[in-house]
Amino acid sequence: MPSPHSPERFAIIVIGAGSTGRLAAHQLLEAGVGPIALLDRFSTIQDIDSSTIGLLAPGTHQLPIRLVHSLGEQRSRQIWEVTRAALPPLRNWISQLNIPSDDGGWSFHSNHPAERAEIENSTKLWEKWGHTPIFIPSTHPLGEGFHLPGPVQFSTDSWPFASIRSLRSRGVHVRWSSGVVSLGSQADGTQEVITSSGTLLSEFVYLATGWNTPQLVPSLSDHIYPVRLQTLRTSPLAHRWTGHHSVRFGHDHFQQKPCGRFLIRGMRWAAQPDMGCGKTQKKIHPAIHKHQLDAVQSLFPGETVVTESVTSSIETFTSDDLPIIGPWPGNPRRFIACGFSGHGLLLGMVAAQQIAQSISGQTRSTPPLTDLRPARFL
Ligand SMILES: Cc1cc2nc3c(=O)[nH]c(=O)nc-3n(C[C@H](O)[C@H](O)[C@H](O)COP(=O)(O)OP(=O)(O)OC[C@H]3O[C@@H](n4cnc5c(N)ncnc54)[C@H](O)[C@@H]3O)c2cc1C
Repeated sequence: MPSPHSPERFAIIVIGAGSTGRLAAHQLLEAGVGPIALLDRFSTIQDIDSSTIGLLAPGTHQLPIRLVHSLGEQRSRQIWEVTRAALPPLRNWISQLNIPSDDGGWSFHSNHPAERAEIENSTKLWEKWGHTPIFIPSTHPLGEGFHLPGPVQFSTDSWPFASIRSLRSRGVHVRWSSGVVSLGSQADGTQEVITSSGTLLSEFVYLATGWNTPQLVPSLSDHIYPVRLQTLRTSPLAHRWTGHHSVRFGHDHFQQKPCGRFLIRGMRWAAQPDMGCGKTQKKIHPAIHKHQLDAVQSLFPGETVVTESVTSSIETFTSDDLPIIGPWPGNPRRFIACGFSGHGLLLGMVAAQQIAQSISGQTRSTPPLTDLRPARFL
């Protein structure tokens, strides 16, 4: 019987309750691993940095290009096969949304020649690899949910298997306001997770800590960097933008919703590298706001464009634009999954599956993705 003061003990502690951490907890439950603790330094899911929002377009142009650029086509294709094997829960959920088959889907267009070439190349790769993109059409209420009026957000928390409510109901110990300040290991391999309010023990640790990972793993600090995005949403406009969902290198990533609201989003660094607005500050940068407003105004010369909201969210990139997924070298009980470089809604599932297979000792259904392991940066 533990004394009242002995630290709590878990089979695994997942640090970070963003989409990656919640997908990990789900996959660990599926693999029969428990008890599981899920910790986050924030006090509610609404405060989470990236807001885990997305347009759920895990099939956009960057991913295959980046993979092939770094690893060559053969190894990239293997990663894609593993990725595809992790998708059924997501596809099942989407199929329950009853999206009409004639809904049009998404298409990406760019007026920028380099980006247009990138889109064309990746489309060819996807076709070759037999990929059917999972797009929630922009006309569906959940598509581009971060554009919806009011507090509704599209987030992995709306995925039935990855919501905090669902994880709690299946026995996951969710702890908010539990910032982890350091990690340790005891002589027998037990992991120590030191939080602002005390120490927890576990057999395994899963770091899903996004851009803040170097706080706990300083040797990754040269390889992980945060990128802030700023999004402007206008009030409904009378005129229709006749173009497609459009991307133009970095800054001009825009779309008009069926309700007439116009959205424009961009990474701060791509927008104005010299604005000095920082990479992690959550505050809205007024110069970028103005830049985006002017851009929309130029598309609607006859209208008065009014800002309805401006939001700022964050993505974690790595120095090779590929995620970091796998065991920490020298400590096989510590796993890292971060740096999804804009593709965490999709690749977070792959990470969860890969790491749950390693921890549970179950027969692997997919080969380990050694190319994505943290060891490549050490
Ligand atoms: C506007 C936007 C659009 C996007 N669109 C897409 C898309 O279409 N498709 C796609 O695949 N991806 C998309 N993404 C990317 C995707 O949302 C992210 O890759 C993903 O949400 C990252 O999740 P994460 O859990 O790794 O990180 P985060 O959501 O940042 O979560 C990390 C968590 O760790 C916690 N944490 C950090 N340090 C500590 C600590 N020391 N102790 C305790 N907790 C800690 C943080 O509080 C945070 O909650 C988009 C992102 C944005 C911002």
